[in-house]
Amino acid sequence: MPGFYQKTIKREIQFKGVGLHNGKKVNMKLVPAAPNHGIVFKRTDLKTKNIISAVFNNVSKAVLCTNIQNEFGVAVSTIEHLMGALYGEEVDNLLVEIDSNEVPIMDGSAKEFVHQIRAAGTKNYDTSKKFIKVLKKCELVIDKKFISIEPHENDLEIDFEIVYKNQLIRKQRKSVSLSNGDLDPVYNSRTFCLLEDVEKIKRLGLGIGGSLENAVVVGDDKILNEGGLRYKNEFVMHKILDCMGDLMLANYKILGKVKCSQGGHQLTIALLKEFLSNSKYFSLVEFKEKKLPNNSFYSRPVAASA
Ligand SMILES: [Zn+2]
Repeated sequence: MPGFYQKTIKREIQFKGVGLHNGKKVNMKLVPAAPNHGIVFKRTDLKTKNIISAVFNNVSKAVLCTNIQNEFGVAVSTIEHLMGALYGEEVDNLLVEIDSNEVPIMDGSAKEFVHQIRAAGTKNYDTSKKFIKVLKKCELVIDKKFISIEPHENDLEIDFEIVYKNQLIRKQRKSVSLSNGDLDPVYNSRTFCLLEDVEKIKRLGLGIGGSLENAVVVGDDKILNEGGLRYKNEFVMHKILDCMGDLMLANYKILGKVKCSQGGHQLTIALLKEFLSNSKYFSLVEFKEKKLPNNSFYSRPVAASA
């Protein structure tokens, strides 16, 4: 059955871990949800005012991680790797019950989230999905950083470039089309930071739960993690995961091409706000089954549950 119908997971999934930035232990449960529910977080450590919808206009901060907040100031942070897993695995509707204000970092990638989602399996509803079809290019340029979104048939493509002085990272560029199958290198790529930035991040009160178990730490001439990198281009692949996770906050899957150089959460969220605030840039579309476009990421068969 094609992926033009809304999906959720077949059963509840539990995660235990630690917050990368607050260092606190956290329990998180993914609960199947009805069509048109969307991705919604529920802070179970609070009795009231504890519901936060995962949509771009609820983003309150996007420094080093993506943080969403409801109208009462109740927040949850570092949602991006889970959201990236949900984008790629096409989970549209889910309640995320969490007993702290930060999603567990796991191993710094989306690997465990994807593994558990695939193990649980997904199920289709007979309610069709809406897509955001890009009609006109929208671009933001801030100094040397830029991000744009432009029309692209029946797929989401993310073309990302990073440029670092560090000789182990330097310049990496990669383009990933969701229809081209293997997203595992994107899911498995870990968050990273430069050794010289570790103290700076901690002074900001962030990265308290960070360790070599959940982040790649890059020194001047070596990777500090035992075993080194998972992929030669793990850095740019992780940026694509972050970007995909932030794009999930558009609330609908996107048919378009995103190009970014040296951006991050802030730039992606700023683009979403600009792009989705003006209907000249996009339209919401629904596909009837007999008119399914060929070769679309969204029309591939549902993955069998493992
Ligand atoms: Zn990340």
